Amino acid sequence: MSTRAFAAQNATSPLGPFSITRRDPLPLDVEIEILYCGVCHTDIHFAKNEWGFTQYPVVPGHEILGRVTRVGSNVKKFKVGDTAAVGCLVDSCRTCAHCKQGLEQFCIPGSTFTYNGVDKHSGGITYGGYSERIVCDEAFVLKVPENLDKAAAAPLLCAGITLYSPLRHWGAGPGKKVGINGLGGLGHMGVKFSHALGAHTVLFTTSPSKVADGKRLGADEVVISKDADAMAKHAGSFDLIVDTVSADHDVNALLGLLKLDATLAMVGVPPTPVAVSAFSVIMPRRHLAGSLIGGIPETQEMLDFCGKKNIVCDIEMIAIQDINKAYERMLKSDVRYRFVIDMASIRK
Ligand code: NAP
Ligand code: ZN
Ligand code: ZN
Repeated sequence: MSTRAFAAQNATSPLGPFSITRRDPLPLDVEIEILYCGVCHTDIHFAKNEWGFTQYPVVPGHEILGRVTRVGSNVKKFKVGDTAAVGCLVDSCRTCAHCKQGLEQFCIPGSTFTYNGVDKHSGGITYGGYSERIVCDEAFVLKVPENLDKAAAAPLLCAGITLYSPLRHWGAGPGKKVGINGLGGLGHMGVKFSHALGAHTVLFTTSPSKVADGKRLGADEVVISKDADAMAKHAGSFDLIVDTVSADHDVNALLGLLKLDATLAMVGVPPTPVAVSAFSVIMPRRHLAGSLIGGIPETQEMLDFCGKKNIVCDIEMIAIQDINKAYERMLKSDVRYRFVIDMASIRK
């Protein structure tokens, strides 16, 4: 079905209107009218080809929330009218060792990402949520607790799970000191989740204007990461730091804050390779690690956790026509704290 979308045609062009085709639902497919789509910094990396593997035209968007409009004949989980969501994955092999553990994001033959992936059905490229509708196998469609505000829940599908997963994996909880570096879309969910899990939460930010918000969102302490003296006070004291920063920065300064056997988990993807001094990790036996979104079972667990604790994202709503301005503001670290596109605007 012909579907209105917004796409970047090359690395330097602004995003603009574009038409894509969505398949009619197959027996296990759910068709979703997209109501809201969050704007992730990954969308910018892809639109500008900052990682070098963008296939144009690219239709970004992987924080998708909407209403079910059609279901295939064998669909069990959803019916027409349900609220439904799609995150960063639309398929995987489902049979490899990682898929069997619910870690579809690490599918060994390769996961199918929501955009810029190979569409198993059409053979072309997958197109994301900056569009009117999406069609996805029900195994990759998530249920959203009805008590959550729909627009503010959309970014949970990437920003939420990307922080929930490492915080759970490395045991954030009571008695643990956890740092979150960067207060953007990912970082503000990290602060909320770390606080909700019961950890002593410290936000690192380059923006003095975000200190009060950091505390309001749940940080016990806020440290300006450019202030070497303030950083030094925390040397050797953290159990875990999750680094969400999208731009080049010094990770050695963060590694120095970890205690014995503690972990710095990178989730942000700076464009150039990270320089690590061996001294930063050999003493006292520190870990530098990474984490990628989360699998489908853990994403559902995170959404259910948010439903119980009433956790959503702090958002600024925009029309799709404002997407290029939103990108400019994100590049200046000026978003409080996630842009969400009201997709009704694409029909105007
Ligand atoms: P965002 O909303 O733009 O936030 C990034 C934050 O990084 C900014 O708000 C800013 O926080 C900080 N920052 C920016 N420039 C900086 C600099 N030069 N030095 C230090 N700090 C700086 O981005 P996002 O959507 O949260 O995404 C963050 C990164 O995570 C991106 O690289 C994205 O591609 C990646 N990502 C990874 C995964 C995964 O699964 N691993 C999933 C989604 C996104 P302060 O103002 O507080 O300093
Ligand atoms: Zn994302
Ligand atoms: Zn697999």
